[in-house]
Amino acid sequence: MKLTPEVYLVGGGDYSFNLSHRLDCHVYVVKSGDEMAMIDAGFDGPEEIIQNIKDDGLDPAKITRIFITHYHADHTGALARMKRLLGAEVYAGVEAAPAIRTADAEQIGLKWAQQFKFYPPEFVWEPTPVAHEFKDGDKFAVGSLEIEAILTNGHCNGHYCLLLRGGTRSYLFSSDMVFWGGTIILQNVADSNVQEYAKSMNKVLTYEFDALLPGHSCISLRNGRRHVQRAANAFNQIGLPDNLRL
Ligand SMILES: [Zn+2]
Repeated sequence: MKLTPEVYLVGGGDYSFNLSHRLDCHVYVVKSGDEMAMIDAGFDGPEEIIQNIKDDGLDPAKITRIFITHYHADHTGALARMKRLLGAEVYAGVEAAPAIRTADAEQIGLKWAQQFKFYPPEFVWEPTPVAHEFKDGDKFAVGSLEIEAILTNGHCNGHYCLLLRGGTRSYLFSSDMVFWGGTIILQNVADSNVQEYAKSMNKVLTYEFDALLPGHSCISLRNGRRHVQRAANAFNQIGLPDNLRL
C-alpha cells in the first residue's frame, strides 16, 4: 500500500489493517530511487509481505536493510525468514541486538506471552544475525533520504523511534511508543517503565516531523505531532495516556 512517494505499508495484522499475518506489526518499506529499506519484519508473515511488496510494483530484491525498532515478537518473529528471503542485512539497536542474535524468548517476554496464548505456544523464535548495531542519534542514508535512530525507552528497554527526513515530508516511525490519538502500550513486564516512557515522549517532541507512522493502528500522514503532544500532556500532568486497546 503506497502511503506517499517514499513510504509503503506492506504488512500488519489484527491491530493494524490485516495486510498480512494476524499478529504482524505494521511493516513499512522506505524507498528512494533504487534503494529500499524495511522497517520491522512482523511476526509470521514474510511470504505474504513480500507478495504485497511485489503487488505494489516494487522489487523486494532491492531491500538491502531491515531496521528493527525493538525486539518484541510481533516485530521480530519473522525476522530470520525475512532476512533469508530478501537477502538483506539486519540493523538493530545495541540494546536489542544480543536478544535477537540468540533468540532469547525469555528476555523479550515471548515465553510469558505464549503461556496465555497471546502468541501461539508452538511458535519458536529463530536466532538472527545482526549486521549493524545502532545507538541514539545514529543516522543512515537510504538513497537521498536519511533515517535517524532515537532511543525511546518506556514501552520496553532499547526501543527506538526512527525519524525519516529528506522526502516529500518528514516521518516519525514511532513503533510501539505512541499511537494515533496519543495512546501508548505500557505493559506489565519487567522492562516497561512509566518514568522512562514519559521522558521519551517529551524527547520525541523536541524533533520536528509531519507524519506519525506507528507500529499498529491508524496512521497520520500530516500533523502527526499532535498525537505525541497528547500523550506527553497526559504524562506531564501526573496521569497516564490511555493504553492502545489490543
Ligand atoms: Zn512492542
